[in-house]
Amino acid sequence: MVTSKEIADLIFPDIDSDLVKLEARYPNRNLPEGAEVTRFAPSPTGFLHTGSLFTSLICYRVAKQTGGVFYVRLEDTDTKREVQGSGLELLNQLRLFGIVPDEGYLGDHESGNYGPYVQSKRADIYKVVIKHLLENDKAYPCFCSPEELEDIRKEQEKVKDNPGYYGKYAKCRNLSNEERKAKILAGDPYVIRFKSNGDHLNKIQVTDLIHGDFEIAQNDLDIVIYKSDGLPTYHFAHAVDDHFMRTTTVIRGAEWIASLPIHVELFEALGWQKPRYAHLPVIMKVGENGNKRKLSKRLDNEAAVSYFLKDGYPTEALIMYLMTIANSNFEEWIFEHHFEHMEDFIFSFDKMSLDGALFDMGKMSFFSKEILGKMTKKQILDMTIKYSKEYNKDLYDLVNRDQKYYMEIMNIEREKENPRKDYEKLGNVYELIAFFYPDLYDQMVKENPIQFNEKFTKEDITEALLIISKELSLDQDEQSWFANMKEIGEKLGFAPNGKTFKQNPDMYKGTVGDIAEFIRLSLTLRKNSPNLYYVMKILGREECDRRFHQVIANL
Ligand code: GLU
Repeated sequence: MVTSKEIADLIFPDIDSDLVKLEARYPNRNLPEGAEVTRFAPSPTGFLHTGSLFTSLICYRVAKQTGGVFYVRLEDTDTKREVQGSGLELLNQLRLFGIVPDEGYLGDHESGNYGPYVQSKRADIYKVVIKHLLENDKAYPCFCSPEELEDIRKEQEKVKDNPGYYGKYAKCRNLSNEERKAKILAGDPYVIRFKSNGDHLNKIQVTDLIHGDFEIAQNDLDIVIYKSDGLPTYHFAHAVDDHFMRTTTVIRGAEWIASLPIHVELFEALGWQKPRYAHLPVIMKVGENGNKRKLSKRLDNEAAVSYFLKDGYPTEALIMYLMTIANSNFEEWIFEHHFEHMEDFIFSFDKMSLDGALFDMGKMSFFSKEILGKMTKKQILDMTIKYSKEYNKDLYDLVNRDQKYYMEIMNIEREKENPRKDYEKLGNVYELIAFFYPDLYDQMVKENPIQFNEKFTKEDITEALLIISKELSLDQDEQSWFANMKEIGEKLGFAPNGKTFKQNPDMYKGTVGDIAEFIRLSLTLRKNSPNLYYVMKILGREECDRRFHQVIANL
């Protein structure tokens, strides 16, 4: 009689290690009570999704705040979906967001005692465990062809049975070891399946740190654990890796809740203690039809972390925003802490909402403005150089014409108690500040001649700009400058404020606001600009006058 051990040896003749040796090679971690070991386990399929950044952020925070370990494991067993080089890029991007692993796959190398941390390099470890399952009759080779599996699926559809390889549909489960041996020796291709003892009519009790305790149907599927390419499937690799890497809490997306029964059964079959689980809400968006849907790379810019990098958002802004999704009390906390030191906030699983969170670009912009507003001019310069060098050549060249001048421009109403929040991202700074540069100003005014409010005549505007050019001194403080502008306005027949104008609208051509608009449009070509007094100071007397006269000449 052929034993299961013989089948296991036939399939894995070179594997002579066993579970005991693996246990010894990967001992329990020597960490203080309460320290959490968490992991981020991306697949190298192309780009860092905003949802994955969220997951890695939570993993990182939980490990940090408990004095534990945060590691990265590269899950590259799906060779068909792999995009070359994307593992390294994922790690680089994580680092930009301040998420730095303590160990694991680090992009260009690995570090730590629990590796290898790249699944494709762990084939021998998986084989040891699978061999153990085969020897103990908890797994078996399955020789079903894709056509046979398709027939099973059709049959199940016809009789309205649950889909999958289980029970009476699991044909290879009941092969004798003699039949298995014969097929293997004949070179029939096969995969290895886990032999489930479950029944989907039974319920099991599971605990999730976010979702609490709940019941879920037991697994009854004989899932594939080892593919014909010699690599394991996700479910099996999860159990093996999180066990031997000594993960204490598996933090991953809510899409994995449905697979929990499989994982529970795998851990039990192997006699291993399960990790704790925390399934995070999925980040959603309201779609075109008004329904919520998952953020999609194809449809939504904000699904890819690279979008925020390319558009020049400060990385802290996205992290701050994601923290508001993570914990409902974070927003109040960060306001109280003036948008600083968010690393001091204590994250907790029970303050996380169960529902998928909606991505709110408005809130994201708000944080971004706050963070950019708080930076010093030197920090803004440094960030701009770093960003524009990689993503925005026009801005890079502009800043490097004269870095001091750029700092002066960006410093308008900055470095003070309540700084202005004029900038949301660096991606559109070029357009916002181009007017400060005379050659760009000339080019823009040529392309888009200024449109003044039609209620003023050419003569009104000419007269106003001439007097402003002559009498509005820049050698005074902002208050006196404003008083000076009012005086000029009154001389020209413009009310000093809206209230006076409303009392006697017939007596005035407009208000001092209109005078300011003449100046603003003439100098900046826009109706909104940073503080006009500082704009004029930065441009300087000569350049202001040149622009006023040029505007008059072109009226
Ligand atoms: N590689 C899996 C994924 O990309 C990881 C899931 C997990 O964290 O266990 O979704």
